[in-house]
Amino acid sequence: MTDSSQVPYTTTNTGIPVESDEHSLTVGPDGPILLHDHYLIEKMAQFNRERVPERVVHAKGSGAYGTFRVTNDVSQFTKADLFQPGKQTEMLARFSTVAGEQGSPDTWRDPRGFALKFYTEHGNYDMVGNNTPVFFVRDTIKFQDFIRSQKRHPVTGLRNNDMQWDFWTLSPESAHQVAWLMGDRGIPKTYRHMNGYSSHTYMWINGGGEKFWVKYHLKTDQGIEFWTQDEADELAGKDADLHRRDLFESIESGNAPSWTMYVQVMPFEDAADYRFNAFDLTKVWPHGDYPLIEVGRMTLDRNPEDFFVHIEQAAFEPSNMVPGIGPSPDKMLLGRLFSYPDTHRYRIGPNYAQLPPNRPHSRVDSYAKDGPMRYEPSRAARPYAPNSYGGPAARGQFGDPAGWQVAGEMVREATKRHREDDDWGQPGTLVRTVLDDAARDRLVSNVSGHLKQGVSGPVLERAFQYWRNIDKTIGDRIAAQVKGG
Ligand code: NDP
Repeated sequence: MTDSSQVPYTTTNTGIPVESDEHSLTVGPDGPILLHDHYLIEKMAQFNRERVPERVVHAKGSGAYGTFRVTNDVSQFTKADLFQPGKQTEMLARFSTVAGEQGSPDTWRDPRGFALKFYTEHGNYDMVGNNTPVFFVRDTIKFQDFIRSQKRHPVTGLRNNDMQWDFWTLSPESAHQVAWLMGDRGIPKTYRHMNGYSSHTYMWINGGGEKFWVKYHLKTDQGIEFWTQDEADELAGKDADLHRRDLFESIESGNAPSWTMYVQVMPFEDAADYRFNAFDLTKVWPHGDYPLIEVGRMTLDRNPEDFFVHIEQAAFEPSNMVPGIGPSPDKMLLGRLFSYPDTHRYRIGPNYAQLPPNRPHSRVDSYAKDGPMRYEPSRAARPYAPNSYGGPAARGQFGDPAGWQVAGEMVREATKRHREDDDWGQPGTLVRTVLDDAARDRLVSNVSGHLKQGVSGPVLERAFQYWRNIDKTIGDRIAAQVKGG
């Protein structure tokens, strides 16, 4: 028996000692509950408000804290403090599935989110990547439609493969990501066994003001491993939280996972005439054109002490770019610069930057004030800029020449196609030259299995043609397997 005098006494949320967690206050033992049992009311009211809305995408995820250590000198490309030689920066990572809800199985076939937050000397730098180097659409105006096609049917409330293939086959730019998703990497063995990619192109700016285009690659030091569809289906029932458990238990047992960060660096001027549009999120830059350059290693070695506080409330936003790093003309990235902070304001409130996982480790001296749940007083003596009472002043020295030249009329048009831009070429290369025979067999089986579940009529016919456009043989094999029953 625990000696009750040895444990701290329970209090209300405002520190008042609590008499009982067993019995409500009633008129006689069998009588009605009294409204002046303020502790009971606090418990009920608090419980009713325990949830924040789940993220509309990437709802189910897990994360951990760690350190990023620079292992190579890339200072000729960026002045960002976290990438300077010998530097170590504390960080937070969150991995997730995309379309499933909070309780959905970790082994559903889906891209995986790979979100990173680096607590740099100049504020937070966030990267909101995936375990794939490409994405389904290239213009942010299609994102909402794309996600709805992958979520639940409005009538049945069920996931619906017909909606997925309907959208994909009407959006040929999705082919590269779909080819990836339907292959082995569509179901990683654990979060530790997958790579991360910025996917987007970013700008790096060095100390001399020179600009470069970069794509980040974070290669798992644990090696790539995956589940087959059959294994994943079985695991979805047996251990829906497999990936969450694996990450937590690995770190808890001292087996800290790590990833080596590389960048592909494109000279600023190359983008104009590169054979692919360098800012098209459905394309990679082939390694042969821009080889990987090592940057450093991230190691995740600290589990959050409270899942809700540190992971549910974590707010990653690609708009967090520090001096030495800027955006690119990628239309998906530009949309996400707005969309992420906006969703955080809705989901966890306008003062979300004060929350423990989001609070920068560097000094914050902004003129933001007030609003729901604000608890950090502004340090400025006057709430406006400029002021003559010692408030912070913006410094031009931190501004980067982060722009690019644009000219032309306002239009609603597709991005310019470069010499080799088409939607089928790169997925074709993937299935023909990267996958081996066994991986191609699994791809055909994964796609035909998916198509057999509720896809019919013109959508099914379009799906066969979609695959024939990627690779005639693969398309024919998929059609034969589906029609063969
Ligand atoms: P490479 O032969 O240099 O690279 C192929 C890359 O494919 C590998 O380095 C590996 O990337 C990745 N890969 C290996 N197995 C699979 C798989 N089962 N599913 C998905 N990707 C896999 O060729 P290129 O750079 O010329 O690219 C050829 C094709 O490879 C591209 O069209 C693209 O589909 C794919 N790819 C290209 C990447 C790039 O940034 N260039 C990155 C990843 C894939 P990794 O080492 O990152 O694991």
